[in-house]
Amino acid sequence: MTERLYYTDSSLSRFEARVVSLSGEAVTLDRSAFYPASGGQLCDTGWLEATGSRLRVKEVTEDEHTGEVLHVVEDPEALQPGSVVRGEIDAERRLDHMQQHTGQHVLSAAFEKLYGFETVSFHMGDESCTIDLATEAVSAQQLAAAETLANQIIAEDRPIEIRFATPDEARTLGVRKIPPAERDKLRLIDVRDFDLNACGGTHVRSTGQIGCILLRKTEKVRQGVRVEFVCGLRAVRTARRDFETLTEAATVFTTHIWEVPQQARKSLDEIKAAHKAQQRLLEEVAELQAQQMLQSALERGGHKATLDTYGGSLREEVGGHKLVVQFFPERDLSFIKMLAQKLTRAGTVVALMGCGGPQPSLIFAQTSGLPHDMGALMKETVQRMGTRGGGNRDLAQGGAPNPARAEQALREAASAL
Ligand SMILES: [Zn+2]
Repeated sequence: MTERLYYTDSSLSRFEARVVSLSGEAVTLDRSAFYPASGGQLCDTGWLEATGSRLRVKEVTEDEHTGEVLHVVEDPEALQPGSVVRGEIDAERRLDHMQQHTGQHVLSAAFEKLYGFETVSFHMGDESCTIDLATEAVSAQQLAAAETLANQIIAEDRPIEIRFATPDEARTLGVRKIPPAERDKLRLIDVRDFDLNACGGTHVRSTGQIGCILLRKTEKVRQGVRVEFVCGLRAVRTARRDFETLTEAATVFTTHIWEVPQQARKSLDEIKAAHKAQQRLLEEVAELQAQQMLQSALERGGHKATLDTYGGSLREEVGGHKLVVQFFPERDLSFIKMLAQKLTRAGTVVALMGCGGPQPSLIFAQTSGLPHDMGALMKETVQRMGTRGGGNRDLAQGGAPNPARAEQALREAASAL
């Protein structure tokens, strides 16, 4: 069984060992300081050196059945069973992991001491870490209080020691969480006068090395509340990024970063109000335009209706009602729909409308009771264009591939009536 050197010394980053066996890329050593991925903590990476070659250790896992530490090595051909290797751990990565993981011990203890919230799981990611607390909810005040207590413990730079005890001894010592697995000896991590917990991971020597703890978002999960956090240099990077993001937002609003939420809310309110005002104006424009169109249709033929944008292609009289056809290159669907509805309500009218813009569309509408079928006319029209559309006898809408095609389709539909 691999002797786990990190068990008694988490700061050891260089060691010598003998190759026990090789299986594909997986190398087993008689002793190793490499931490294998387990217990929510990411694995170490690093290098193995042997006879002049330096091999990258890209992953370290634990064999489920034998419990051996497996070093996944790039190009392991240089190694043979029995050969002596020098191992070197990526110390920066290890320190980061120790900061996150030890920070988790302190944070979990803080939540438990303050509110009795038990930590039921821990996850370490490349960017941030999470713990799941067995509780229905965590308030913003509770988060802030746990963060403050955890950072006080860090500032006090309390020693962290490794102790070994039997499960029975551990129970009398008041260990926070005793693992269910049957073991003769438990490895206990002792944060002096603050937390004692069974754990097989790697930890810093004193709380000061954690640097700091920054709590992030919370999220409701099946087993409770998930709390995201970052420690040490990750916390500094995260805070720096937050600040830069806020500064950028503040520049957009020409304000101080603390005023960004108020400014954002104010801008949203203004946008909503402007949108409402625009809608009211468009209604008025549509109303006026409808009246003008009807009037000019009357003036034109006396009894027959055409706004003859398309000149001679329109027949002038269609069974005792007016035909109004118009294309609006600058308007959108909601406007032409509003206009068509106003036209068909104000008179006895068939209104064929089209618009350009980013979403070229057509609206066919008739005053209720007229004999045409707008839905059928739209179906034929969109079929020719290969687009989608439809509706009922009195009102139908459809899309067009581009403004020019929409305008042409409008003319064709008018001639088909
Ligand atoms: Zn631990």
